[in-house]
This record gives sequence, C-alpha cells and structure tokens, in this order.
Amino acid sequence: MNIIRNWNCVVDCFKRRLSKWKAKKLSFGGRVILLKAALDSLPVYFFSLFKAPVGVIDKLEALRRRFFWGGDEDKAKTNWVAWDRVIGPCDKGGLGLGSLKDLNDGLMAKWWWRYKTEKGSVWRNVVDATHFNQNSWGYLPIKKGISGSWNMINKLEKEFATRNLNIRSLIKGSCGNGLDIRFWVDWWVGDGPLMECYPALFALEKQKAVLVAERIVGWDWRRSLFSVQEMMELQGCSTLVSTIVLLPTADRWKLLAKYAVPFYPFSWFKWVARKVSVFAWRAEQDRLTTYNGLKRRTILSGSSSCRVCGDGEEDAAHLFISCAAATLLWQQISSWCRIPPVYAHTVRDLFDVHNHIGCSAGKKDLIKMIILAGTWTI
Ligand SMILES: [Zn+2]
Repeated sequence: MNIIRNWNCVVDCFKRRLSKWKAKKLSFGGRVILLKAALDSLPVYFFSLFKAPVGVIDKLEALRRRFFWGGDEDKAKTNWVAWDRVIGPCDKGGLGLGSLKDLNDGLMAKWWWRYKTEKGSVWRNVVDATHFNQNSWGYLPIKKGISGSWNMINKLEKEFATRNLNIRSLIKGSCGNGLDIRFWVDWWVGDGPLMECYPALFALEKQKAVLVAERIVGWDWRRSLFSVQEMMELQGCSTLVSTIVLLPTADRWKLLAKYAVPFYPFSWFKWVARKVSVFAWRAEQDRLTTYNGLKRRTILSGSSSCRVCGDGEEDAAHLFISCAAATLLWQQISSWCRIPPVYAHTVRDLFDVHNHIGCSAGKKDLIKMIILAGTWTI
C-alpha cells in the first residue's frame, strides 16, 4: 500500500460520494455533518492497517476541502478559512472534522495500545511469532528485515518524535502482580520509563526486558557499580521503587491522551442551526463574503465601503457592530429583552455579551440565541 495507485479505490469512493451529495445544494451545517459522519468512516479500515502515502492524503484532503467550500472535483471555490483551522477540534476553535493524516496516524498508533492490552489475542500471538526476539528489548517486538504493516506501526514512534509527541508517554502501566510490565522499558512509575530516567543503570542491566516482578526483588548488574552517577541513579531508583508493593491482581494499562492544537476556542451552541454556528464561527474570524473580504482576496475591486450606511469598510466587525443597521437592531433587542445596551468592540465580544448580563443561565442561553439569530439575519 506504499504505492499511490493502490489507494485508488478509496479515492474513487470519496469522489463518488462527493458528486452524489452535490455540495452546492447543502448548507454549511449539512456539509459538516456529512463530512464527519460519512466521509471519515470510509477509509477507516485501510487507515487502521496501512500508512497512506502523502500524495493520497493530499488528494483526499483536497476533495474534502472542495466539498466543504461548495465546489466539486473540477471546480474549487474560495477557501475563506485555512483548512488546518477548519478541521481542528471543536474545543480548539475548529469544526471538529479532523485531519486525515492524524486519523491515519492515530488509528495506526492504536496498535501500540492494543498490543499492550490484548494479551493472548490471536493477532498478538501472530505478531509475537513473527517478530519476537528473545534478546530484543524494544517497546514492541520487531524484526526490521520484515517489511509490512507492523514495521510501519513500529516506525510511527520516530515520526511522532519529530512532532514532539512521545507514544510511550501516552501509555502507562498500573502495577498489580508485575508480570506484564517490563521494569525498565515500560512507563509504570515516576515521570517516564526507568531506562530514560536512569540511563547509566540501564546500561549495566543484564536483562533489559526484565519484568517488574523479577526485578523488584533484587538487582542484576553486568559489573559492580562505582561511578558517582551510577551510585546517584541507584539511590534515586531504589527510593522510587521501594514504595511499590506487588498485588495479587493483574497489571493494567492506562491511555493518557492530550491535545496540542493551538487554535482559540469557539463554543458551539445547540440552540441554533449548525449553519448559523458555522456562520458565527466564520464571522468571529472575519472570514465572510463581505466586500472587504472579497477585495482582500482580489475577487472584487473598487470601493469596499458599507452599502447600508456608507460609513466604514464592510467587514464582519462593521456589519455586526458599528453599522447603523446593526446598532439599531441591538438597541431594539436590548429593549425587547430588557437587558443593558449591547456594547462590543469585536465580534467575539458580541457573542460573549450574554455572559456579562446578570440573569439566569436559561435567559443567558436565550440572549445568545437571539444575538446569533440577529447576526444571521443581518
Ligand atoms: Zn454599515
């Protein structure tokens, strides 16, 4: 599956779905739902077993991008927000579509977790029979000469490291009887695997892949310890391990996942249609088809002043805050809802107005819904 043409079936499936759905007949909300629910489910089988070549990921992302912005395979439309931001997680400011590369890497990396937790399963026995080496102490068993999926799964660690992600730091052992966790190689105590915390001691260890239950009862060095570093490491490691008591239960594994995406958060709101939420999400970033926006992208030339009041450039902040029409609308809404006058400097402030009104949570939600509906109407 390293050859791009082997992925043609996945690419063709994407294309068929996209042409069928006719992106232009759906609202943004509908497109988000379809992209999430259907498109992402298509390549899961391939993505969980094979590393997709960069060319395939680029092709599939291009198809998704065009579909989202209302274009099709032959004709692209203006991309108003960077695709990286569109596909970012909801709580980090994106629409939660997810990147296909991350999906591929995540599904492949899951085998690291499954290998640890599915002891005794047939697939793990096959991997062990093929790749296990008595003298090896790697995190996963691997014979580098055997190419294929397992080799690619193993190589993920290096790729993740280039993005400052450590797969091993996502899987932590919880010590029971100490018969499954390896003392030096796995992370089970302290801030990381003991082989990384105490490298001098690990260099002297006779059995690198030794289990916790075997090592906790006594050390086994290749030679006597004498250097200052070795003695200091021994003292630190002994203190750490002395607190551990073996239990009659089996060892367990915990998955520690965390986000590292630097987008600002946009809070989704379930009381309005999804297309209104996507509209508000674009408005916050000033990525709407305003005169100013079209001019910035050289789609329009000439004046970009507001066609309603003629006072100021027509961008999101003007349309929804400083324009005479918007001012009048917010005045009427504040007197209708009996709330203090709506003051905002930015579109984000406008969508945050409800949080600064002294009233019940239910009324705050209502005010937010009315403001979002107001911006949609403008
Ligand atoms: Zn105006």
